[in-house]
Amino acid sequence: MEPNLSSRIKTLSTSQTIAMAERAADLKAEGVDVISLSLGEPDFDTPEYIVEAAKKAMANRFFKYPPIVGYKDVREAICRKLKRDNHLSYNPEQIVVSNGSKQSIFNAAMVLVSPGDEVILPSPYWVSYYEIAKLVGGVPVPIKTTIENDFKMTPEQLEQAITPKTKLMIFNTPSNPSGSVYTKTELAELGKVLERYPNVYIISDEIYEYINFTGDFAGFAEIDSIKDRVVTINGVSKAFAMTGWRVGYMAAHPTIAKACAKIQSQVTSGANSIAQKAIIAALDGGKEKIKYMIDAFDERRQLLYNLLKEIPDFKVNIPTGAFYFFPDVSELFGKTFNGVTINNATDLSMYLLEEAKVATVTGDAFGNPECLRFSYATSKEDLKEALKRVKEALIS
Ligand code: GLU
Repeated sequence: MEPNLSSRIKTLSTSQTIAMAERAADLKAEGVDVISLSLGEPDFDTPEYIVEAAKKAMANRFFKYPPIVGYKDVREAICRKLKRDNHLSYNPEQIVVSNGSKQSIFNAAMVLVSPGDEVILPSPYWVSYYEIAKLVGGVPVPIKTTIENDFKMTPEQLEQAITPKTKLMIFNTPSNPSGSVYTKTELAELGKVLERYPNVYIISDEIYEYINFTGDFAGFAEIDSIKDRVVTINGVSKAFAMTGWRVGYMAAHPTIAKACAKIQSQVTSGANSIAQKAIIAALDGGKEKIKYMIDAFDERRQLLYNLLKEIPDFKVNIPTGAFYFFPDVSELFGKTFNGVTINNATDLSMYLLEEAKVATVTGDAFGNPECLRFSYATSKEDLKEALKRVKEALIS
């Protein structure tokens, strides 16, 4: 007999970024020459000074349960980072370390959203925001943006989306999947709207903070008038090439931090002890030490921009952060290539996987079904070869 699962799980979708990456990996294991531009995972190795810090933690036998909220010295390092980079004063009691920022986002949504509360998601949103909003009983309310506006939400759009039921907005800058970075002024304008709605909280996901080619970064917590309602999320996975270490963190009002700790105490206990200790070296080393990776991403960004522009019917903008392009491919809808008719971005993504052996992620996963996400967290050689194949597959 088929097990009878909960209604909660029956309406939950699997993460499409992960699903596509796994599909590409399976094909590769079968010997198919697939190039994966699907997953947002740096192809770099974790820097040696961080690995050394982990070795030291092992030598010092940090093998017992860590504190639920994270070691004090780790939370102090996070406070130093927030002060140095973001001019934000937090004390360690306001920090909770988790198994990756995804868990930090989930914890925060869990403690803020009651069943039926509306959760605003500027769209394209990162794939898991939508499902997390649903999972905690909220009602996702996407705000649609398009490539013409560099996928940025306007203050007017935000104001229109807020209702008496709005409890939370989940927001990211630099954005996954669009690569857009809000300027200080743009963020301040959105902040003015939020100032008028004291019941609305903000999860500000800043995991791509360092992968930013504008030289200018602003987060919502820097706006004093709303700081108490902002949960700042960050981590080490992307900038320090530490995806597998699984450490992320949040900074928030002490009441929110305590509530997140309560959830974590019941669900998972603290984050991995060795990985936690290692992030002190990452955070204290800051942006300077990993500049070589950011520079490499920037070069790939220029390369991929030029290659994508050459694909007929792709509408491309130039992203200024993260490591994704999100071209509008809707001009292709209704066209047929090698006997396959492309009706939407999911069709195109599947067609490119089958025909060109290139893995992408459909914009459907991010709330913009007219777009397709390309990750450039991979080598230039792979990018060149992948785009050559995409171009060939789309010759009619
Ligand atoms: N955040 C990355 C992505 O969007 C990793 C996969 C995931 O956690 O969804 O590709």
